[in-house]
Formats: sequence, C-alpha cells, structure tokens
Amino acid sequence: MLGVSRASAGEMLKRLEADGLIERGEHKEALLTAAGRVRAEKVVRKHRIIERLLTDFMGYTAAEAHVYADELGDTFTDDMVERIEARLGNPERCPHGWPVDPAVEQAENDELAPLSDVAAGTRATIVRLAEHDGDLLHWFYDQGLVPGRELVVRDAQPAAGQMTVALNGAEQAIGEKAAAGLFVRPA
Ligand SMILES: [Zn+2]
Repeated sequence: MLGVSRASAGEMLKRLEADGLIERGEHKEALLTAAGRVRAEKVVRKHRIIERLLTDFMGYTAAEAHVYADELGDTFTDDMVERIEARLGNPERCPHGWPVDPAVEQAENDELAPLSDVAAGTRATIVRLAEHDGDLLHWFYDQGLVPGRELVVRDAQPAAGQMTVALNGAEQAIGEKAAAGLFVRPA
C-alpha cells in the first residue's frame, strides 16, 4: 500500500523489534508493544497537528498538507508541536477528518465503514479520507468528496469494481480503490 519493498519493510520491522517497539505474535505477525503504541500515537498526533499548521496557518490545501507534513517529519520538537496545537486552538481533527486524539479515533472506528462496504440506498456522511495515496487524495478533493459531505449510495456493482453515489444532486461513479479509502458514517 505504501510502495515500500518487501526487503525494506522486513529490515524496518527488525529494527522496530530490536528497539522494543514491536513483538511477534503467534503467527509471526507484527504487534505493537506498549512502548511502540505510545510512540506510534505520538507520531500520528504530531502529523495531524502539523497538517493543520500547513492548512490553517500557511494556506496549503488539504490535499497538499499530507505530503508536506510527512516531509517536515521530525523538524518540530514535542514542545513546539504542543505550542502549535495551542495556537491553532486545539483542533479536533486533521484536514482529512482523522481525530488528533487517538482515543477519539479508536472510539469512532466502530461507527464508520469504508464506502465500499455500504449497501445501495444508504445515506452517509464522509468523515475521513485515506491519506496513503497522494494522487487519490487529490482526486477526492477534485471530486468534492470531502469530510462533512453527505452522499447516497445509488447502486453498487462489485463485479465491475464500481459504485454510483448521488452527491450534490449529481450522480458520481466511484471506483473500488477510492471507495475503500472513503470512511463514512451511515445514517
Ligand atoms: Zn490528515
């Protein structure tokens, strides 16, 4: 999904294991340790606040913010991120709808579904956009598929890898890859 080779992913997992951030489960799967989870939540939280700095303060679009926030990475210390967060008025979500607070994210997961799993006839509100694919993220914004937007699933054609939704009074075709990256709250 991230375009990282199998070899590099394996190397990174070994390093994370040596650092005590992941451990191997029963089926050799990678599991976060308690320390790993704390670190992961911190990284994610930081990323979401920096995205808001880029959109709210620097005027970048939401589609641009994700890539630039990745590039900035560890530029800001924890203290700087705390100050940025306070100056921005403690935003609740990143520009793509993901909660800044990991506990809120976990609690909300059960209420959401990828659009690809939603049945025809269902009305739903877009809450979060998948961020792993920059081109797809741009496409969401170009099509008006943004957090807070309501849509109705008109027709799902899984065999064709496509579904049709009503959005702003117009019909819109959405491919499977895109539908899997739109997390909605069914009404
Ligand atoms: Zn984001």
